[in-house]
Amino acid sequence: MPLLEIQNLVVRYGSALVLDRVSLAIENDECVAVIGPNGAGKTTLLRSISALKDWEGKMTFQGHDLTGVTSSQTVALGIVQAPEGRHLFPQLSVRENLELGAFLAKDKAERDTNYEYVLDLFPRLGERLRQMAGTLSGGEQQMLCVGRALMASPRILLLDEPSFGLAPLVKEAIATAVRQIMAKGTTILLVEQDAHMAFELARRVYVLEEGHITISGTSKELSEDPSIRSSYLGL
Ligand code: ATP
Repeated sequence: MPLLEIQNLVVRYGSALVLDRVSLAIENDECVAVIGPNGAGKTTLLRSISALKDWEGKMTFQGHDLTGVTSSQTVALGIVQAPEGRHLFPQLSVRENLELGAFLAKDKAERDTNYEYVLDLFPRLGERLRQMAGTLSGGEQQMLCVGRALMASPRILLLDEPSFGLAPLVKEAIATAVRQIMAKGTTILLVEQDAHMAFELARRVYVLEEGHITISGTSKELSEDPSIRSSYLGL
């Protein structure tokens, strides 16, 4: 049984159909990426899984039907999103932002373990615990966004464009952190416009175009596909 299974997901904004019968599945411990152009519906897909957007179709997580489940219930189930555009609390410190990520963590020991884990993963955050989040660099804000999501003990981490707007070296630091998170056994659903990053990190990739999955396969297969190479990899 896949960890997360999505069948015929349909999402609308008013009368606009944004996701049209999207189906995908993620196995335990896999990293799967969704790539696609601007406006294809990638963020909407993640927001639907984390119950921030209404949807139709069928979604199950660990066999549990997600119909009618609220966003705080999805977090309690272990579905945690690190959103695009960071969505941090800019006037709060790095430490306070991390603590807010743990709002559902059951016990102090778990919170402390997660806190140590995040600071090990991102030592730069440890050096800036009292700094206001709004004054961090773009790369540091992205680290904080991922770190805050990890504070909620995800079973599956939904990552929305973690490399967006970052310089190559900072992108590489984020990619290294994502690999470490995978090595810890966290399943990852990665949404990326940077297809190079997606192919580097994910075992399998789905291409989402205008609300449809147009092609999917292993990273190796897709990175050898001539249309993917010209449309997404600039080759
Ligand atoms: P990007 O890479 O540019 O973030 P995306 O693939 O993540 O794009 P979405 O953000 O999911 O795409 O948007 C898909 C479509 O839904 C777009 O046409 C967008 O304009 C529309 N859309 C997104 N949010 C809303 C909203 N709150 N109200 C109305 N339409 C919306």
